[in-house]
Amino acid sequence: IRQKIVAGNWKMNGTKESIMTLVNGLLEMDGSDAEIVIAPSFPYLSQVNDLVDGSCLVLAAQNISDEVKGAYTGEVSASMLGDFGVKYVLIGHSERRSIYRETDDVIATKVKVALEFGLTPMLCIGETLEERESNQTLLVCERQIQAVIAEVGIKEFEKMVIAYEPVWAIGTGLSASAEQAQEVHCSIRAFLAKSSESVAQKVQILYGGSVKASTSSALFQMPDVDGALVGGASLDAKEFIEIVKTAS
Ligand code: 13P
Repeated sequence: IRQKIVAGNWKMNGTKESIMTLVNGLLEMDGSDAEIVIAPSFPYLSQVNDLVDGSCLVLAAQNISDEVKGAYTGEVSASMLGDFGVKYVLIGHSERRSIYRETDDVIATKVKVALEFGLTPMLCIGETLEERESNQTLLVCERQIQAVIAEVGIKEFEKMVIAYEPVWAIGTGLSASAEQAQEVHCSIRAFLAKSSESVAQKVQILYGGSVKASTSSALFQMPDVDGALVGGASLDAKEFIEIVKTAS
């Protein structure tokens, strides 16, 4: 049985003050069977790491350098993230792929570096609306996963999480239905099973894209949906706590 994960991707939002308020709100949450993860922007990792100390909240970063150290101005390394108590790192978010032109190869290298430094990659994959409408959803997801398998090998997926985030559902208010998510998650697991049945059974596959408390419980009832990666709704402590409640 796979533990559920409810993760909040705060994206490029927040101030010292709003983040303190948000985290304090989240700390009032009751215990959950799910693992609760929050991903602030880099400058706030230290602050949030101090605030969540001793709680059930786990820290994630939103990005990582594909280089280990040295003359890479503006980059943040895996070891730096480890220094600030980060456990998970989002890699290959669609905003990184589309706005910052991250290729499958760069993303695969980032996964490799994260794993080398003991971080758990949350590998984000998913198709655009155009790709869905031309029946390429699985092709795209498989290509995005295969690039990482080619770099690190299937076994390493035991130490990773996959987040299926259809691009058309991100920030649009238009979530995939629970059935649509299940269909893709099941196919992703079947694709992994071609390389390793045991890895396929172990890997947690989260859904992301306009998740709200009103939609999460149906999603979480699906056998291959192992949690959610929440954007907008994770900036509201009450709403995020409601989502977490539906995961138990
Ligand atoms: P929204 O929940 O705002 O659609 O964002 C989803 C997302 O991109 C999480 O990584």
